Amino acid sequence: MAEVKRTICMGCHCECGVLVTVENGKVTKIIGDPDHPQNEGAICVRGMSYQQLLYHPDRLRYPMERQPNGEWKRISWDEAMDKIASKFKELINKYGPESLAFVFCDGDRDNIVFNVDWLTAIQSPHLLGTDAQYCIRPNWIADGLTFGQALTWEKGPDYKNSKCILIWGGNPLETHLGSKGQEILQAKYNRGAKLIVVDPRFTNLASKADIWLQVRPATDAALALGMLNVIINEELYDKEFVSEWTVGFDKLRERVQEYPPDKVAEITWVPEEKIREAARMYATNKPASVHHRMGVTMNTNGLQTCRAVDMLIAITGNLDIPGGNLLPFPSPTSKVRSAYVEFPKLYAERLPKEVKQRRYGVKEFPFGFDKANPWNDSHPVLAFDSIPQGGIRGMFIVNDPVMGMQGSKQTAKDLEHLEFLVVMDFWMTPTASFANIVLPAATWLERDLVHELHYPSYVGVAPKVIDPVPECRDEREVSIELRKRLGLKSAYPVESVKEWNDYRLERLGVTFDEFYQKYGTVLKFQFETEKYKKFKKFPGTPSGKVELYSKTLEENGIDPLPHHEEPPVGPVTTPELMEEYPFIFISGSRKVLYFHGYGRQLPWLRELQPDPEVEINPEAAEKLGINDGDWVWIETPQAKGERVKFRARLTWGIHPKVVNADSHWWFPERKDDPHRACFESNVNVVVPRYPPYDQVFGCPIIRGAICKITKAEA
Ligand code: SF4
Repeated sequence: MAEVKRTICMGCHCECGVLVTVENGKVTKIIGDPDHPQNEGAICVRGMSYQQLLYHPDRLRYPMERQPNGEWKRISWDEAMDKIASKFKELINKYGPESLAFVFCDGDRDNIVFNVDWLTAIQSPHLLGTDAQYCIRPNWIADGLTFGQALTWEKGPDYKNSKCILIWGGNPLETHLGSKGQEILQAKYNRGAKLIVVDPRFTNLASKADIWLQVRPATDAALALGMLNVIINEELYDKEFVSEWTVGFDKLRERVQEYPPDKVAEITWVPEEKIREAARMYATNKPASVHHRMGVTMNTNGLQTCRAVDMLIAITGNLDIPGGNLLPFPSPTSKVRSAYVEFPKLYAERLPKEVKQRRYGVKEFPFGFDKANPWNDSHPVLAFDSIPQGGIRGMFIVNDPVMGMQGSKQTAKDLEHLEFLVVMDFWMTPTASFANIVLPAATWLERDLVHELHYPSYVGVAPKVIDPVPECRDEREVSIELRKRLGLKSAYPVESVKEWNDYRLERLGVTFDEFYQKYGTVLKFQFETEKYKKFKKFPGTPSGKVELYSKTLEENGIDPLPHHEEPPVGPVTTPELMEEYPFIFISGSRKVLYFHGYGRQLPWLRELQPDPEVEINPEAAEKLGINDGDWVWIETPQAKGERVKFRARLTWGIHPKVVNADSHWWFPERKDDPHRACFESNVNVVVPRYPPYDQVFGCPIIRGAICKITKAEA
């Protein structure tokens, strides 16, 4: 008999409410939940396709151990956990606890808490997020320096009440379609909100914009400073807010004089009149909200770029007002114990300072990876660099760094140097193919989870809709089991996932099951705005005001005001290299179909896009004799001797001097290759992980590199 169950999708960070049809114990349909306030019925094809993932013949179904001849042997869970615990103990005894690391990227935060629990109990400081140098870090830290907390990521922009929405270097229609993407569309089409999109590509979102600013990759800071120049010089800023609630306005005013729109137009390739128009539209349509994402952080000037965009919010007073960017904290939802708070707390409480100081990246990037680091994690590249030198020798990985980290071939070599590698995943991924033991993970449909949702006023629970497909397991159960087998005490008064879920909700006075019975999947709280007026300060900044000029940055030898910095390669810095490598290279813009490396196995998704694609302007393609659909090679000067293969997709939506290639592409169907052809069309083969780095976070050039394109054989 069919039954419809209500839960929350964890296919990406959106966390959309869904209705799942279960027939005879099997999931047969997933649709959006119209009553869930976050996505109001909208979901994406990625979420729907989880029913194909659940029962896919290639899904990992039981633990396996790699044999000396490279073959995989099925083992029991008990055997797998025994082997992992005894090998980890052996490494600790032989080389010390710091020889072990836990590696994640896109997993849920709960799981990190449990792994940091055993990691800190053995006294290892090595928590590695494989995208830690970019992803959310520059946005988060820039927001923190300016406003005292993060408010430009998914949690912050109040699109539902905005009159103007500015999306910069991100595309919620691809990455957050269910929640934020549909909110933007509703604001635009149902309420007539203005939409400004800053993107080098004419994306589906840009096609709906009132103004599209086609910026040259990695020059976004200059563009933001040009818009600030217009807003300040035309006196379109909020004078009352600026004088009462900010520090450093005069210095900012002085700085932006270095960026008149005509000069900015030259730097960014955005016409001067469009810069003025966008600045006026944003400043005069209050309330306005801003979202900036990885398009502005995956380069060597991420912090300053994020700070420059933040200044727009600050001087127009679009702060913590309905329709602006909301300060998420204090939030009534803080009653729920948050994974974001818990794992950094474990570091603070359990590790002595000298151990914490041995995290990778602390010496090299003392601001980005130590003083301003809210998560206490390590710089992933420096940590991987330690492997061949005998630093880290054992890893527990729950993502796919061979695909996700720059310098894929180097990463694979590093993994081969490890003495012991455990990978937990849904699939035999390229990274899993290097493991000693692989463990089959349960999906969100098979796990009970507590959620902190994108609005600071929502808390959710996502009950499992089926029992895990045999023998897949909840990652948290495995981490708890590992801790027990290592003979370690937990920092928490819980011994199971069930107890953990109840513990997280304890201060609301309900258990997990009671929450679901009482409220369903989501509980909405009253959320206060303009909280700084009540507190008479912005808690979290040293001055208690919005810091346009940051003394903290100054004290750390970093420019206290935002500035533009040319990318280390490109038409301005290395014009001679552009003769051989004539394109600016965006490597890794995201698509709605695939979340990082996941989903290439799923028929619904693969049918929609079967091959890795690179977008090329038809004019540029014609000069190279390339037609739409041809296979082409991409090469970069930073990875000489390497090349990767993509299908050309010709589009007028990209500048003739810019190309954009898909990220994370591998071929799960290529079972003739133990690593599933993971170097053939993987952009990270030609994007190295080495310097030149961003000076604050150690981010290499990812979205402003250069490349050449040549036609490949079919
Ligand atoms: S956007 Fe898609 S994958 Fe992400 S949570 Fe929503 S339905 Fe799931």
